[in-house]
This record gives sequence, structure tokens and C-alpha cells, in this order.
Amino acid sequence: MASITLPTRREAIAEARRQGRRIAAVLPYHYPRALLRAHGFHPVEVWGPPGVPRDEGGRHFQSYTCDIVVRATSFLMGGGLDPADVILIPHTCDALQGMGSVVADFLQPSQPVLTLYLPRSDRPSDRRYLVEELRRLSGRLASITGHEATAADWDEAFAAEEAADLALASLYAERSRLAVTDRGFYTAVRSREFLTAEDFVAMAAGLPRGEAPGEGVGLTLSGIVAEPLDLFDRINDAGGRVVSDDLACGARRIYPPSDAADPFERIAGRLIASPPDPTRGSPIEERVRMLADLMRSTGAAGLIVFDVPFCEPELFDVPLLRQHLGEAGYPVLHVEAELGGSLPHQVLTRIEAFVETLR
Ligand code: SF4
Repeated sequence: MASITLPTRREAIAEARRQGRRIAAVLPYHYPRALLRAHGFHPVEVWGPPGVPRDEGGRHFQSYTCDIVVRATSFLMGGGLDPADVILIPHTCDALQGMGSVVADFLQPSQPVLTLYLPRSDRPSDRRYLVEELRRLSGRLASITGHEATAADWDEAFAAEEAADLALASLYAERSRLAVTDRGFYTAVRSREFLTAEDFVAMAAGLPRGEAPGEGVGLTLSGIVAEPLDLFDRINDAGGRVVSDDLACGARRIYPPSDAADPFERIAGRLIASPPDPTRGSPIEERVRMLADLMRSTGAAGLIVFDVPFCEPELFDVPLLRQHLGEAGYPVLHVEAELGGSLPHQVLTRIEAFVETLR
């Protein structure tokens, strides 16, 4: 099995700049890529990063604030976001809304801090609201660059970003025919967080096809971010295989196509039609149905919900997921781990025991 060699974040940023784009540092996890591109920005996502100490960022939040928000704030305060021209903080959850306020009102970095409120349902009024939010964001970006996105800018942006979205969806559709390990697969999926759209499409096309390596008990992985990537090796060591996911950094961002003529309607329609998701307020029945269908179709025997501590949107759903998926014959394990460099021994032991019960 060939290993996957990817550009680093630094190299991806250099490539985007070479193409004449500015850099947008973007917090997790639904946001309008095509809108950023139409305004000349390349998004580079900030999921922590892992290993950045909590201390600096932690001074600005309650102690029960999640690692992504606290470590990202530490990272910003330490100069980690200095290469960015703007910072975009979507209102994914209350913690990120709080981060948006702290960063914009108190820390006041040199770059503009932009926000985006994502509605918590998918009624027509929610869609209209999101369209207006996108127009507002577009106006802010235009005022920063001094350039209104033209029809040609929109066309180019949709062509590039939707090709990359399609490449991501195809990776999932082809999962069982890709000759890459679980770790390799998620390394590829997560490169969407920083590669240019063109480089992501090329990377996806270049993955080796063939029989997927490894055997084991099929598992579906849910949660926010599969970090560190060692998680996949340890799951494989325990006799498991990740055959599908419901990860915020993964399949929750498979956006369906839209043929809406208006660019804002098109983006809103795609964002709002993404798979059921606790941060978008999806009803639990929809999540259970989606997960049961996913697990059945991919041959998963159990669900591991892998979260960073204090992730409220995820925690609200876990008891009901456990109950309803358990009734459908799919056991659920919920584990939490900070965004550190290695997985806690206790988490590994629980995963091993869970996989053992599924054999
Ligand atoms: S981990 Fe949970 S609480 Fe933290 S930013 Fe993500 S969704 Fe919000």
C-alpha cells in the first residue's frame, strides 16, 4: 500500500498565494468555500491545532470550554494565525460564538474577524436567513478587498470548489476500492482542510485503487475530529476497521449539488442540505435513521463517538443515539480525548474492549 505524500499547510498557503489568493483562517466547520474563493480567498482550517498548550487561550474562557476553541485561541495569541489575511469564525456552537466575541472584541488581532451564523433548522425561513448571512459576509469580504465578485469570479469559484466537493464525495463512495489504510484515507479526506481545490482533486484522483488493506470488525466513527491520526492505527490494532463515518471533519461535509442560479441561494441550499448534524440542530430521528442506514450499507457492527471533552452539541445527542441505535442492533461507544499528541491509555482500553464485544 502506497503511503500518501501531501504538501504541508505552509506549502499549500504558498501555493494559494502564488495563485494570487489571500488566506482565510477558518474555524470549524460549515462555511462557504466558493464564496471565499469568488472573493479571492483560500480557506485554511484551524482545528485546534492539537498539542498547542491551552494556557494562553484558557484565560479567556470558562474551564469547561472545548479544546478546539481554547487551543485555537492560544494558537492565535501565539502568532499562529499571522499568515492569514482574515479570520472566519462560523457560529457552529455556543463555544465558537463565544470565541468570535472574545477574538473580535478583546484580542483584536490585526486581521479582520468575520462571523457567519448558521441556522439551526432547514425551514424556508432558515434558508432565507442563511442567504442574507452569506450576502453580509460577501459584502464584508468585498469591502476588505475593494472588489465585488463578478459573474466570472462566481463561475470560476463554483467550478473549482464543487469539483473538490465531488472528489471528496467520490472518495467516500469508492472507500472499499481504495488501496489505502484507514489512516491513509483520513489523511486524504482531511487534506481538504488546507489544500487548494485543484490540488485536492489531483490528490484524490491519484490515490491507489485496488483492494482496501486490512480486515476486522467494521466500525462507524462519529464525532467532531479524528485526532490524532494514530486513532486509526490503534483501532486497526484492536481488530477494528473504520468503514464509514459521521465526522464533522469528514462525511458531514459531503454537500449535495445545487443548480440554483443565484450564488447565495446555491451555497445556502448546499450547506443546509448536508447530512444530519447535531450542530445544525438536526432532529435525533433523522440522525438515527441516517446512521442506521449508513452502518447497514457499509457493514458496520458498532458506532464509536469520538469527541473532544465539553462538546455540548455532541453530548446532547449521545444518550439518545445510544438508546435508539442500540435498539436497532448497533452498540454505541462514547469516548472523549483532548487534542493532545497521543491517545489516553483509558480511551484505548475502552476501544479495544468495545471491538472485542463486536467480534
Ligand atoms: S468541539 Fe464541539 S463545542 Fe468545540 S467548537 Fe467543535 S462543535 Fe463547538
